[in-house]
Amino acid sequence: MTGYLSGLNEPQAQAVTHGEGPLMIIAGAGSGKTRVLTLRIAHLIENGVDPFRILSLTFTNKAAGEMRDRIEKVVGFEARNIWMGTFHAVFAKILRIEARYLGYTSDFSIYDTDDSKSLIKSIVKELNLDDKTYKPNVVFNRISGAKNNLISADDYLANKLFRADDEAAKLPEIGRLYKAYTTRCFQANAMDFDDLLYNTNVLFRDFPEVLNKYQHKFQYVLVDEFQDTNVAQYLITRKLAAVHRNIAVVGDDAQSIYAFRGANIQNILNFEKDFPEVKVVKLEQNYRSTQTIVNAANSVIARNKAQLKKNVFTANEEGGLIEVVKASSDNEEGRLIASAIFEEKVNKGLRNTDFAILYRTNAQSRSFEEALRRQNIKYRIIGGLSFYQRKEIKDLLAYLRFVVNQSDEEAFKRIINLPKRGIGDTTVAKIAVTAAENQVPVWEVVSNITKYISGRATLPIESFAILIKSFKLLIEEGKDAYTVAAHVAKTSGILKELYEDKTVEGLSRYENVQELLNAIKEFVDNADNEDKTISSFLQTVSLLTNADESDDGDTDRVTLMTIHGAKGLEFKNVYVVGLEEGLFPSQMMLEKREDLEEERRLFYVAITRAESKLTFSYAESRYNWGRLNMCEPSRFLYEVDQRFLTTSKGRRSGGFDEYRNNVEPTAMNFIRKPSPTPGSVQKPASEGSPTTPASRLANGQRPSTQATSVPQSASTDFVASDTSTLEEGNRVEHPKFGKGTVKKMDINGTDRKAVIQFDTVGEKTLLLSFAKLRIL
Ligand code: ATP
Ligand code: MG
Repeated sequence: MTGYLSGLNEPQAQAVTHGEGPLMIIAGAGSGKTRVLTLRIAHLIENGVDPFRILSLTFTNKAAGEMRDRIEKVVGFEARNIWMGTFHAVFAKILRIEARYLGYTSDFSIYDTDDSKSLIKSIVKELNLDDKTYKPNVVFNRISGAKNNLISADDYLANKLFRADDEAAKLPEIGRLYKAYTTRCFQANAMDFDDLLYNTNVLFRDFPEVLNKYQHKFQYVLVDEFQDTNVAQYLITRKLAAVHRNIAVVGDDAQSIYAFRGANIQNILNFEKDFPEVKVVKLEQNYRSTQTIVNAANSVIARNKAQLKKNVFTANEEGGLIEVVKASSDNEEGRLIASAIFEEKVNKGLRNTDFAILYRTNAQSRSFEEALRRQNIKYRIIGGLSFYQRKEIKDLLAYLRFVVNQSDEEAFKRIINLPKRGIGDTTVAKIAVTAAENQVPVWEVVSNITKYISGRATLPIESFAILIKSFKLLIEEGKDAYTVAAHVAKTSGILKELYEDKTVEGLSRYENVQELLNAIKEFVDNADNEDKTISSFLQTVSLLTNADESDDGDTDRVTLMTIHGAKGLEFKNVYVVGLEEGLFPSQMMLEKREDLEEERRLFYVAITRAESKLTFSYAESRYNWGRLNMCEPSRFLYEVDQRFLTTSKGRRSGGFDEYRNNVEPTAMNFIRKPSPTPGSVQKPASEGSPTTPASRLANGQRPSTQATSVPQSASTDFVASDTSTLEEGNRVEHPKFGKGTVKKMDINGTDRKAVIQFDTVGEKTLLLSFAKLRIL
């Protein structure tokens, strides 16, 4: 057998060597789906398929890069020619080539979410709508939802149902905003992220000759993480594969975690209808994790009603139990995890890259960063406010965008007064509106300003136009991305302004701009990049996903990232942190069963990233918007089959300690409070003084090694309310939500809930086994 095929199990080998025709693998985490897809591509090329005729769609650009590297090991440099990347990256490439069909030029800008929201804000203002009702976020999400379901602005406006829906939501003007937004993007020669999918669909729908070209070109189409493709993505993929019908999809319905972005699990079910001749391969053996981890993951996901049944097992070793770490506060959680990593490194001789800390939201990274820094452990944060989202970076990129595409209204708004040229907001708004009204690009107005606007304000605009023209000249002369960018940074005055700011922040902003120039130089010097223009660089940058953060060469770092970003990855030791009700599962996902199931799938994804050691942690209190909140352990901790859990050995005393003498020391008991006698008052275990942010500062920011930061009053009065005395009409108080009235008791077996109308935060449904309530 050829080298790369050895070591595959029987169904894996079948999938890799499958000949013509559709193929589907829906299998559990760590069963080798991505590996099979990679080897299948290598196998195709080894058997004479032209790499240019293979299209492979991945979840991140980084995943595509890794796949390409692996394939290159088998087939050599030819691997470079495979069409491989995220849906967005691949479709952007097609759209650049075919832009003229849609009335765009191939230099179109890609608006990021900030650009989109800024444009929406302008439009709301221009249409004299209330900006409190039509918040950019809300409008943007509605438009995005429509696009992902392939509904055009005109269709949206004509649809009675949408209209009724918008009116019910007291947002009757969404359709009009959608229409205006689309028109403005078009005039700006710009597409937003959703447009990359939406417009590719339009392209293939309205220009059969273009579709035909790509249908014949791509002899093989392969999709990883198929469970997270949305309707628009699936329709395009299906069309592309319609001629050759060589489409291979791999995924895991249990890991579908993007329903909020329109990903549709229905695609998996539809696939068999669309390709009835499909060969289905099952992979059941997990190669990634220990038996304990695999079984714990199975026990969690079994609670979901909506799932395709599958059997996942592993022949790996049994492995240690999953450790549950309790911390009194978020800061302590950071310290405990950082110490645990330190110990593991020393005891087992592991490297930083063997560790990952996974959280539900980016904001949670802070306490871990601080603690890791204190332990001198290097880390990298993936996602969050990435390098390319920093203001000074976006500023320079906006300059470059505008030099490439002078219709780019959002880039224009960003740079017209940067550095300060004394051009007021009113003038800027006037230019944008004038351009929109005359249906011309902003550049037309800017470069002929006296024709459109009179008065003194025109002078600085004229010199701005001259500046941009000089930059354009460089591009026309065919200068590479670095030459153009370095010139723009210098001549525009951006670098000078930052250089003159001698504060620490100013210095770091200056360095960041230098760093961007370095990145552009690297881009130009990289032999893999054929197109070295600034336009090509900008495209690469705007298509980076949150999980694509570039490495700085120093690769031995602990990874900190959200669980969403961790899809498809694996680490020896994984810490799933912040397992608290309201945080994970997220407060926003508690109302509907489908939402809770999605959160549970996210938990399943988190668990299944671990190879040999898994740790869960939660804090009893956490700062949120400057307020200290009490937290309850996540229900997910109870949902794991308790046989696989153990409490951490080196833990320090916390609020639950006093119970430990009275109950069996199993993990379950450790984290669940026994039902208290109604009305009984419980003393906190430690008598530490309440810590406020101010007193923390007064303590010289040294981590307190003692006591808990939970205010006494809270832990004294509020007790888990799993008690039968609560009834409708009771007045109660909750540490987070304040006072309220019990509207309804919902008792269904052990699942006991109360619907409470809180005086300030409105109605909430609370699980009684977790909610800490005080009957007033
Ligand atoms: P996920 O659902 O998390 O994306 P996956 O199904 O894509 O997981 P892979 O990432 O392809 O799984 O594989 C998981 C791990 O198991 C990888 O380290 C891979 O190299 C290894 N693996 C897969 N198949 C085999 C095999 N036959 N022999 C040895 N190791 C294997
Ligand atoms: Mg995978």
